[in-house]
Amino acid sequence: MANEFAPCTEAQKAAVLERLAVIRQNIADSCAAAGRDVSDVTLMAVTKTVSPELINLAVDQGVQVLGENRVQEFLSKRDAYRSSAEVQFIGHLQTNKVKQIIDKVTLIQSVDSLHLAEAIDKAAAQQGIVMPVLLEVNIGGEASKSGVSAEELPKLLEAVGKLKAVRADGLMTIPPPCFDEAEQCRTFTAMQQLYQQMQQIAPLKILSMGMSGDYAAAIRCGATLVRIGSALFGARQYPPQANTLT
Ligand SMILES: *Cc1c(COP(=O)(O)O)cnc(C)c1O
Repeated sequence: MANEFAPCTEAQKAAVLERLAVIRQNIADSCAAAGRDVSDVTLMAVTKTVSPELINLAVDQGVQVLGENRVQEFLSKRDAYRSSAEVQFIGHLQTNKVKQIIDKVTLIQSVDSLHLAEAIDKAAAQQGIVMPVLLEVNIGGEASKSGVSAEELPKLLEAVGKLKAVRADGLMTIPPPCFDEAEQCRTFTAMQQLYQQMQQIAPLKILSMGMSGDYAAAIRCGATLVRIGSALFGARQYPPQANTLT
C-alpha cells in the first residue's frame, strides 16, 4: 500500500507543520491551565489513511509515537516509516492477528477482554518479551463500542496481572463523540477517577484519552497520552473500496 500514495505536495506538508504547531500550543495551554508539565503528555500521531511521507514529516518534527488501527495497513506501510518511530496499536485487535504485530509494536492500547490479553501473553512469551498494554474502557457505556465496562474493569485488571508476558500500564478510552466541553470533561473526569482507583490493583502510568476534537479537555482532566489524527494530518481520505473502515 505504501506505494499507492501519491507524493505529497509542498502545500500538504506545510499544512501538517502548521497544524502541529497549533496542536503543540494547545497542549501547552491545556497543561498550563491544569498546572501540569507538558512533558507529562505524549502526543501520538494516528496514522490511518495517511501516507508514510507525511507520517515521517511528523516524526522528523519530534512526534515519536505513532498509533496504528489496522493490522494490514500497518504492515504495508511500516517499512517506509523512520526506524526511530515508536508504534503502538490502538485499533480493535482480533486474537488471530496478534502474532503479526507482536514484535512490531511497543504497546497495545486496545485490550478489552481476557481472551485477547491471553493471546498477547502467549505471543509475547514466544518472543521472550513482556508486552505493555492498556485496558480499553467503554466509559460511555455505548452498546456498539468495544471496551470493558467500568464495573468489569477491576476484574480484568486483576486477571491480566496474573499473566507473565503482559503488563497493564494504563487505561484507554474512546468516549462517545461530543461537542459540549462540560460533557467532555464529565466523561474524562470519570475516566481519571477510575484510573486513580485502579492504582490500588496495579501501578498504572498511562491514561490514553482525547482525540482531535477533545484533546484539550482530556489534558485538563488528566490524560497522559492524546491520540490525534485529523487535526494533524487533515480530514481522512478513504479509498473507495475501504470506506467501511473507520
Ligand atoms: C482514528 C482514531 C483516533 C484519531 O481520531 P481523530 O479524531 O482523527 O484525531 C484516535 N484514537 C483511535 C482509537 C482512532 O481509531
